[in-house]
Amino acid sequence: MHEYVGSIHLHTLASDGNADFDEVAHLASQAGLEFVIATDHNILVTGKDGWYGALLLLVGEEVHDEERQPEANHYLALDIKVEVAQHAKDAQAVIDAVNAQGGFGFLAHPFEHSTPFSRKPEIDWVDWQVKGYAGLEIWNYMSEFKAYLPNLPQAFFLAYFPGVAMRGPFPETLRKWDELLRERRVAAIGGTDVHATVYTLGPLKRAIHSYGHCFRTVRTHILSPQPFNGELEHDRDLVYEALKGGHAFVAYDLIGDSRGFRFVARSGNHEAIMGEEIALAGEAEFEVVSPLPALLRLMHQGQVVAQKRGKSLRYRAKEKGAYRVEAYRRYLLRPRGWVFTNPIYIT
Ligand SMILES: [Zn+2]
Ligand SMILES: [Zn+2]
Repeated sequence: MHEYVGSIHLHTLASDGNADFDEVAHLASQAGLEFVIATDHNILVTGKDGWYGALLLLVGEEVHDEERQPEANHYLALDIKVEVAQHAKDAQAVIDAVNAQGGFGFLAHPFEHSTPFSRKPEIDWVDWQVKGYAGLEIWNYMSEFKAYLPNLPQAFFLAYFPGVAMRGPFPETLRKWDELLRERRVAAIGGTDVHATVYTLGPLKRAIHSYGHCFRTVRTHILSPQPFNGELEHDRDLVYEALKGGHAFVAYDLIGDSRGFRFVARSGNHEAIMGEEIALAGEAEFEVVSPLPALLRLMHQGQVVAQKRGKSLRYRAKEKGAYRVEAYRRYLLRPRGWVFTNPIYIT
C-alpha cells in the first residue's frame, strides 16, 4: 500500500479564503503534503486540478443553501465536473446531483459549537434523513478551534498557541458516526476548513489560522494499492477511490507524524485494510501498528473493546460489525486525539 498525506476542505480567493491556487499548492508542498482538495463555497472552479511540482491539487465544492436560516448542511462535493450549487435548497438533491455525475461527498462539520465571544454561527448538519453520501468529516480543525474561544484574552492567546486547545473530534460526531455505522458503511475524512481570515487587534494582525499552520494539523492519510504516476487523471482517481472507500485515516500530525500508522484485519489468507470488509469465520484478528507510542483503542459500536499503550495492539474479533481505531498522545500536558482510522467491517 502506498500512503499519501493530504489536506482536505480548504477555501481560496475563489470564495472567502485568502490565497490563490498557486499559493495554496506552494504552502502545502512546504508543509510536506502530497495532495490538497480545495472546496470553495458554492462554486466549482474548473481548470485548476493538476500537479503543482510535487503537490497534487484537486478541486471540489462546498455546497450550502445561502438563504437558509439558521445556516446548516454544508456538503463537500468531490470528483464532480459540473457545479451543484443550484440544488442547494435541498440537501438530498445536492447529494443526488453529485452522485449522478459520478462524484461523492461528505457531510461537513456535522456538529459545531460556538461561544458568545466567537459569534460565529454553529453550522451543523441537520437533515440526517439524507441518503447516498460517502461519509462524514469527523474532524474539522477550524470548527474545533471556534469552539474554544470563551473571551478576548483567551482568543488572543489561542490565536498564537492553538495547540493548547485542540483535543480531537467532537464526541457527538463520533457517537453519530458509530450510530450510522450500525446500519451501513460510512467513510471518514478530516478537514482543516482553512480560510486564513486576517484579524486585527490594535497593532497586531494575524491570519486565523494560516494555510501553513493548518496544513500541519488535521490531515487525511490515504492508502492506495498503486503509486501516483504523475498523470492527473490516474492520480486523481487514486485519491478519490481511497477517500470514497474509506481507505484512509485522519491524523493530527502536529503532535506526532502518523505516517506508517496501520490497522488491518486478517482471516485465513485474507487481509483487509481500513474501509474493507472481511469474514469473521471464527478467526479474524486485528492488528494496529503505530509509528509512535500512543494510547491505542479499538472501538466497536461505540464501545472500547481493546486498549493498550504502546506501538501495537492485537485483538481477535468476536462479533460482526464495524471496528475502528482511535489513538491518543500526550501533548502540552494532556492526552489529545491523534489518529482516527476508518473502520474495517467484519461480516
Ligand atoms: Zn462549511
Ligand atoms: Zn468550509
